[in-house]
Amino acid sequence: MTHKKELFVPINPGHVGMYVCGPTVYGDAHLGHARPGVTYDVLQRLLRHLGYKVRYVRNITDVGHLEHDADEGEDKIAKKARLEQVEPMEVVQTYTFRYHEAMRQLNVAPPSIEPHASGHIIEQIETVKKILEAGYAYESNGSIYFDVEKYNRDHRYGILSGRTLDDTLEGTRSLDGQSDKKAPYDFALWKKAEPQHIMKWPSPWGEGFPGWHLECSVMGEKYLGHDFDIHGGGMDLMFPHHECEIAQNVASRGTQGVHYWVHNNMITINGQKMGKSLGNFITLPQLFAGEHDKLDQAYSPMTIRFFILQAHYRSTLDFSNEALQAAEKGLKRVMQAYKDLCAISGHKAIDLGYGEFIDAVAPESCKADNAEIKAIFEGVYEALCDDMNTPIALAQIFDAIRIINTAKEGKLQLSAGDIDTLVQLFDDVVFGVLGLRDEAVAESGNQKVVAGLMDMVLEERAAAKAAKDWPRSDAIRDNLKALGITVKDTKNGAEWTID
Ligand code: ZN
Repeated sequence: MTHKKELFVPINPGHVGMYVCGPTVYGDAHLGHARPGVTYDVLQRLLRHLGYKVRYVRNITDVGHLEHDADEGEDKIAKKARLEQVEPMEVVQTYTFRYHEAMRQLNVAPPSIEPHASGHIIEQIETVKKILEAGYAYESNGSIYFDVEKYNRDHRYGILSGRTLDDTLEGTRSLDGQSDKKAPYDFALWKKAEPQHIMKWPSPWGEGFPGWHLECSVMGEKYLGHDFDIHGGGMDLMFPHHECEIAQNVASRGTQGVHYWVHNNMITINGQKMGKSLGNFITLPQLFAGEHDKLDQAYSPMTIRFFILQAHYRSTLDFSNEALQAAEKGLKRVMQAYKDLCAISGHKAIDLGYGEFIDAVAPESCKADNAEIKAIFEGVYEALCDDMNTPIALAQIFDAIRIINTAKEGKLQLSAGDIDTLVQLFDDVVFGVLGLRDEAVAESGNQKVVAGLMDMVLEERAAAKAAKDWPRSDAIRDNLKALGITVKDTKNGAEWTID
């Protein structure tokens, strides 16, 4: 499958450097945060499965993200701290922890490095100095602004989003006379702190704090180098955040810095972007608990993950209870098919555990004899390697499920090679790359332990049945039922499900 190799040409053969803009931690993550979480998790999983070594950097914004256009008004974290009468770092600590917890529930593996903006103030000051020396920034009343017009004369501002300066002007609020900027599209590299401001640091220009766009330029360079492979983030970050990042990179180090930009589209509610600023968001803890007036029921983290995977990351994804319920059903079918496949083949079910990656590198070819299974295998990898087309990959997985069901009914004989390929599709792709998990089992503790104990219990029951000790075998079944485990006898032995 040569397409696997054509997927991507990294700067250093075999290695991929990837930077993704992380959250500003001033509130619970919502459905709109789950999407980049899952999207770039699948990307790093896929790259690893294709044999690349990945360094994945995802930052935490804990300073400098201001309320209006990120550039004016109060710092979002400082505002939350003021309203809740706590230290800003308490806000950061609380919501970083809660973000990690939500990502863990979604089985989003942690990044390789998770740098905080506030931990890189010195590096950010150094970059501001470089941009000043290069002549693309100016000082105004203790703040430093990027001179967009000057930059645009020498280079081109808007290269990523395709915007011109005139377009940019239309979307910007006019200066109110209070501003220190020369032009409305100029953006802050360093902001002077007012006396009451808590999160501030000394700098050559007085006490202040870095502008939001700066941290990603600086931390990307620090951990991934002058130029790196992939930069991801939400579509709403393309402008101005990433456009500013490119300008800062060119001005400070003479290179755009990023080889491939990847942007995930938004999650919408009734066609409108879901976001904190619009007040129409549902947080992940609310979704998992079913506590929001827009929710008919609770949706499990894997249901949310499956829902996200059902759309291509560049398409918008509209929230509705119907769509989430369909995702819940689809996910159940996938997990049931895996159990059936394990029963047919004697394969021991795997559980990768939270954030674990599959060790197996994608095979070059498959061992299946059945032409349809062969085509599904090829189709799955082709879809994943074609701009991470997860909906097409999932559609092919459902074709595989149909085959498993036919085999289960005894209407199709699978060869050892066929079974091998089907097992690989589940273990490597469904669990490894797509990062799905069987929550029913995972939630009740360690899947391996539960599965092992169930094997023992069912062997006991089989022994009781063989000895015609019916009260004993019925008691085992009833006790399991009381624990919420249903045992069903089949011609291959017994199957169990957690209700
Ligand atoms: Zn960023």
